[in-house]
Amino acid sequence: GGEAGDSLPADGPVIRLQGITKVFKGDADESTLALDNVTVDVARGDYVCISGPSGCGKSTLLSVLALLDTPTSGRYWLNGRAVDRMTPAERARARSLDVGLIFQSFNLIGDMTVYENVEYPLTLRGASPADRRRTVEGALERVGMMARAKQRPGSLSGGHQQLVAVARAIAGRPALLLADEPTGNLDSKSGEALMQMLSELHAGGATVCIATHDPRWIAQAPKHLRLFDGRVVADGAAPQPVSG
Ligand code: ADP
Ligand code: MG
Repeated sequence: GGEAGDSLPADGPVIRLQGITKVFKGDADESTLALDNVTVDVARGDYVCISGPSGCGKSTLLSVLALLDTPTSGRYWLNGRAVDRMTPAERARARSLDVGLIFQSFNLIGDMTVYENVEYPLTLRGASPADRRRTVEGALERVGMMARAKQRPGSLSGGHQQLVAVARAIAGRPALLLADEPTGNLDSKSGEALMQMLSELHAGGATVCIATHDPRWIAQAPKHLRLFDGRVVADGAAPQPVSG
């Protein structure tokens, strides 16, 4: 027993957070405690819905999980490795190879076409040109964006950029998929198609964490992590839908 070290056993959780705190310092003596002592394990193959009211820390938590932001205190092990012991190069590598992101700021590369954006993670992975082409076309077909393959992200609507970000995330076949309000910019039909895709990725073995306050996602997620004021207030099976 005792404290976990710099690496966890191979059969350990894909995510382990131990006492994670994030403080944002403002201009004056203002500061925000966005995450307050969050201790959570996510097992390989879990499908977790992170919910809670606006401002409770969902996006901050996902940014920490995605290695886009560093916690103020506490420790994080990703795939059994202590993130605070990784070099910047190791962190960048883990971010691009181990994690698929569907975030609100789509992080699409403006100088690249839609096709090139989706191809990018596959290039990093060293996939062959034939494999890249098959995968990119498959992913763009799935989200209905093949007709826009040659366009640049800046010429697309927010909803279409969101779909390209989804195609890029699924094309990389990440073991861990992190999504922040993934249906926020989508019409209900595209939103349901996205939910279906994420369920299929999960069935294929991916670990999925979705931040949302959409009751449809919360009702269907096998596990539910509820945040309030940066604290975990419920950690377990999905709740029964409540009416009234
Ligand atoms: P949610 O995604 O659940 O709406 P966030 O994680 O975006 O919540 O925000 C949690 C809290 O941290 C909020 O009070 C928010 O204002 C604050 N916050 C988030 N990002 C920053 C930042 N970059 N600088 C200062 N405060 C921030
Ligand atoms: Mg948010």
